[in-house]
Amino acid sequence: GKRSVHKATVEILSHAATQPVAPLVPDYETYADYRSNGGYEVLQQVLDGTISPDAATATMSDANLRGLGGAGFPAGRKWGFVRGYPGPRLMTINGDEGEPGTFKDRWWLESKPHRMLEGAQIAARVVGCERIYIYMRDEYPAVHEILSRELAALEASGLALVPMEVRRGAGAYICGEESAMIESIEGKRGLPRHKPPFIAQKGLFGLPTLNHNIETVSWIPDILRNGPDWFKAKGWNEAHSGLRSFSVSGRVARPGVKIAPAGIPLIRLIEDHCGGMTPGHEFKAFLPGGASGGIFPAHMADRAMDFGTWEKEGGFLGSHAVVILSQEDSVRDAVLNTMRFFKHESCGQCTPCRSGTDKMVRMLEAHEQDERLFNDLLMVMGDSSICGLGQAAGNCVKHLMKHFPEEFTS
Ligand code: SF4
Repeated sequence: GKRSVHKATVEILSHAATQPVAPLVPDYETYADYRSNGGYEVLQQVLDGTISPDAATATMSDANLRGLGGAGFPAGRKWGFVRGYPGPRLMTINGDEGEPGTFKDRWWLESKPHRMLEGAQIAARVVGCERIYIYMRDEYPAVHEILSRELAALEASGLALVPMEVRRGAGAYICGEESAMIESIEGKRGLPRHKPPFIAQKGLFGLPTLNHNIETVSWIPDILRNGPDWFKAKGWNEAHSGLRSFSVSGRVARPGVKIAPAGIPLIRLIEDHCGGMTPGHEFKAFLPGGASGGIFPAHMADRAMDFGTWEKEGGFLGSHAVVILSQEDSVRDAVLNTMRFFKHESCGQCTPCRSGTDKMVRMLEAHEQDERLFNDLLMVMGDSSICGLGQAAGNCVKHLMKHFPEEFTS
């Protein structure tokens, strides 16, 4: 009868609650593997003074490693700033990775987690940070499992002199914005802060904070081991420095994380690293940097994939999340989809973003074709939103009008 069904349900639920399913953990480079390949030697050199904090900061500046969470801020300069503020200082590692189309940080942590852990320890020692908080999105259960195993192994080694802890994100896109992430780590709602003060000066718990993305810190050991010239030479040409991880998805034959030179023309990334387009699909449009970096027609794919290129076109490369669309795809639908996403993820604390994203969705749904109306709204959102979400939310709409007028007016 009813009672026994109910009892069985309770049993199933309580069993599920007490017996979490173990995540599938892929093969990855463990602590022992990493050590046997020379891992943690650079950290040891930093700890014993063979590499001084000044020398490490200079090497990082020379190498021109950029912040790969999306902002592209030079990492060496950031080290200099944070070191310049009186301690105590803290470090945060941003593993929120919420930009649609981005999955490279997951790839780094599911394949080479100790690059990030060694890079973080080095950066914290050089900059004088007393504690490291790794903010990890909870949607990556295998990463959490790997981090808990490997942090324990690292702790047992005695090499991790700066204490590290993992904080779990709860699925809000806005918590990838650094000041919102810091609010979240402090136990509050993830609302972006007004800037200044920047978090380098007054960040987590009011202290100077060095914040880096997972991939950014993962490059640190290699750069300090091989020197800045080695890293710079990995760029597409002398105007671009180093390697990057591109998350490529959409209508290419082999999507996935591609390690390629900074500044590679998009068309070469597709042809040389992704096996070209999916058979039967003709390259029509692309998003170079996820939902917020704008959308461009295929004929612009000869441009360099690096910071600076897409800003000139009213977009940006951001976290290098490249989405390729074909003749099978509607740019208008893709743009509407990005705006629905921003409406859903807006934290709501400022009106231009909260109301602007909602109004923009309704205008697109109604096939509104008055460009003046769109431009007014785009200007207000761009100029007066508190954070990057509201400021960048309209990029794709701007490009829909500019580059795809026939779809805008359809
Ligand atoms: Fe929140 Fe949007 Fe304002 Fe950013 S721009 S603070 S996400 S309402």
